[in-house]
Amino acid sequence: MLPFARVTIIGLGLIGSSLARAIRQYMPTVRVTGHDADPQVRDVARAIDLCDDIADTAGAAVTDADLVVLCVPVRAMGAAAADFADDLPGDAIVSDVGSCKADVLAQLSAALPGHAIIPAHPVAGTENSGPEAGFATLFQGRWCIVTPPAGADPTAVERVAEFWRRVGAEVETMEPAHHDLVLAVTSHLPHLIAYTIVGTASDLEDVTQSEVIKYSAGGFRDFTRIAASDPTMWRDVFLANKDAVLEMLQRFSEDLSALQRAIRWDDGDALFNLFTRTRAIRRSIIEQGQDDPKPDFGRKH
Ligand code: NAP
Repeated sequence: MLPFARVTIIGLGLIGSSLARAIRQYMPTVRVTGHDADPQVRDVARAIDLCDDIADTAGAAVTDADLVVLCVPVRAMGAAAADFADDLPGDAIVSDVGSCKADVLAQLSAALPGHAIIPAHPVAGTENSGPEAGFATLFQGRWCIVTPPAGADPTAVERVAEFWRRVGAEVETMEPAHHDLVLAVTSHLPHLIAYTIVGTASDLEDVTQSEVIKYSAGGFRDFTRIAASDPTMWRDVFLANKDAVLEMLQRFSEDLSALQRAIRWDDGDALFNLFTRTRAIRRSIIEQGQDDPKPDFGRKH
């Protein structure tokens, strides 16, 4: 049996529009209603027939929903939930797809007191945004981390987990604070580093920007993909997951200093040992099916 019959998606960008497409592909009998605060996004969503219905207000979008999934930037979650609080059916479950969880849970609990809130984070995405960037298979074989608050109804948690399995994800459950620490290392810090490296390269006065672009060798080019990610989304992630990101950044700075020392003192063994360890991590990511085994991510040469 399907976990939900009527799903409302608030925020029809990359993730919201991918979810709408995935529901229609893998659970075609589910009725999907969408809403986005941006009228232009609503127009595009109607033009591409993204959902069964696109509502002009958040309240109208949720009136008969049994699941509402918020797919807006993390610091907009509370305001987006407040927009439909008065119209939300008492038995509806509210979830979200935000990239950090403790802060979002606090925002949603404040905006929707007394409602079942089961946050989740599909660890899947691209550097593109907007309703036309989404695709139905985005969640296939990717993890979705469900982060229920303490004391959440296990049936509601299982329904949200089953919902994500139906669109192709593998589901793991975690405490919100633990999720934020793990993702600070695996996702947030790499984005911060990419933003820094690409920013530094473009600021260098003795290397013109055109040379940076012309000779963008593999390493730099790979960072530019990450650094092209949505500015609003990532500004919000760093501010909402401040503590975990700062803690991981501190550790990263210490490790960077150790590398700096190894280079300065010609400590080749230290460099070789680290690079051997990191190569093994790449291999296990591929072995676990989380990335393409082809060299250079399968790019054509
Ligand atoms: P996106 O493509 O920029 O889409 C977000 C949409 O939400 C935009 O159309 C935005 O409109 C709309 N919006 C903003 N505030 C709203 C509000 N109060 N009510 C209704 N709609 C509102 O962003 P995304 O990449 O899909 O990210 C959405 C969420 O998914 C974020 O929380 C992010 O952390 C999470 N996530 C992203 C990825 C990824 O790789 N992109 C992966 C996993 C999870 P405007 O543009 O007009 O503001």
